[in-house]
Amino acid sequence: MSQQAATRLDKQMLIGGEWVDADERTDIVHPYDGEVVGSIPKASEQQVVDAIDAADEAFEASDLSAYQRYELLSEAARQLEDRADEVARILTSEQGKPLSEAKGEVDRGIQTLDLSAEQAKRMFGEYVPMDAQKGFAKDHCFTQREPLGVVAAITPFNFPLNLMAHKVGPAIAAGNAVVGKPASNTPLTSIALFECLEAAAEEIDADVPDGLFNVVTGSGSTVGDTILGHDAVEAISFTGSTGVGKHLADNSGMKEMTLELGGNDPTIVWEDTDIEQAAEQVVGGACSNAGQVCNSVERVLVHENVEDELVDALVDAAEGLTVGDPFEDDTDMASMVDDEQFETVVDIFEDTVDAGATVESGGNYGGELGERVFEPTVLSGVTPEMRAAREETFGPLVPVITVSDFDDAIEEANNTEYGLEAGLFTQDIDRAKRAADEIEAGGVNINTVSGFRADHMPYGGFKDSGVGKEGIKYAVEHFSKAKLVGFHDG
Ligand code: NAD
Repeated sequence: MSQQAATRLDKQMLIGGEWVDADERTDIVHPYDGEVVGSIPKASEQQVVDAIDAADEAFEASDLSAYQRYELLSEAARQLEDRADEVARILTSEQGKPLSEAKGEVDRGIQTLDLSAEQAKRMFGEYVPMDAQKGFAKDHCFTQREPLGVVAAITPFNFPLNLMAHKVGPAIAAGNAVVGKPASNTPLTSIALFECLEAAAEEIDADVPDGLFNVVTGSGSTVGDTILGHDAVEAISFTGSTGVGKHLADNSGMKEMTLELGGNDPTIVWEDTDIEQAAEQVVGGACSNAGQVCNSVERVLVHENVEDELVDALVDAAEGLTVGDPFEDDTDMASMVDDEQFETVVDIFEDTVDAGATVESGGNYGGELGERVFEPTVLSGVTPEMRAAREETFGPLVPVITVSDFDDAIEEANNTEYGLEAGLFTQDIDRAKRAADEIEAGGVNINTVSGFRADHMPYGGFKDSGVGKEGIKYAVEHFSKAKLVGFHDG
């Protein structure tokens, strides 16, 4: 085990207020050196049913007020704050991101819980002015927001703390019960979040029913199919790949769905911008967490007049990154999460180079660098039909595509089945406005990269990148329903 990895953690699942094991267990490995850092139970179908039933009972039993839900989430944030260093080390151990990035994610997770706590106090309805329609002038009508019931929260490997907090926080804020299902390769950090909730429930002066929050681990399809088949689950909030998201959407019947899926996000660099500054941000946006970020820069679209200047600046920025052991202080980028993710990047890279792209910097992988390490790699001469341009790579590639005018840039930005986020560097307000209007994506970010995100912003893709919005306020809306109350004057 890496010297600085956390002590081995053999965790259990939280079902109905009890920590329980399963007949089978799965090892969790440190991506950088492949050593086992812990293990988790592989839930049986019956255990998933038990977790949903426990959540259903807890939902029926719960009479927590908005203020008590605020206290619960706010105290969970304090518990996480107290464990911040330890949880960051768990995160690096199982996911492989540099410790500095893991600390950043824990900090965001604390804020996501705090923002959720605040939102619990803002479950506003709406007064409907009845005199807007002829004949109703004396009547009154308003809506009040009510929770849905049991919410299933399924999360991916790349931000196992903050993405789980983005679902569990708003779901509890709105008064629901939760069954969480973290990614099979990075569950330990998510389990720590549930431990913080459990500690918070004991700490506050309120009767939090056992089963209000549960976490099950193991096979995605076993858990997913059981969730789909259980009538008590009212909503599924899923973040992960488009393939799994479509499977859930096709089989979810009347359940509410939020789907936060894959992306192939463009960032446009125009000739009127500060190229060096744009390059720094683009490389950061493409290589953070070794490119394993849903809204990372997957494609760079550059105006032909500044192509050479941008490529040189990208090379400088990429070569300035230190690649290595994620527990070392000066490491900027470490390994991919597992062999599958690593091999996907290698395949896409090799095919793109075979198709004629030029490697401007990087391009080395594996061997002495580390088994699953791929260097930050700048590719020029990339054309739209090459794989690095067409597919979600989820790796530290910076493919540069040259465009000659802004029509081309917009057309190329939209030349994908995805539509998560986009970035544009320009000083021209009209160009910025055009990009905002014409790029088909859930977010268009000006003078920054596609990956620009604060946790209270509305966040969610168009096209194959998903359905619905996260961001605390928007998730609370999604996890609650509006009931209309009408008063008729005789
Ligand atoms: P994944 O789809 O393989 O897994 C996501 C989760 O789904 C895991 O918990 C997994 O166990 C579970 N799962 C697998 N099969 C399932 C099934 N049949 N039913 C229900 N659940 C099932 O994704 P991943 O590899 O962990 O994450 C990478 C993907 O996630 C990328 O495509 C990335 O773009 C996307 N992502 C999107 C966002 C966003 O906000 N849009 C954020 C992060 C990651």
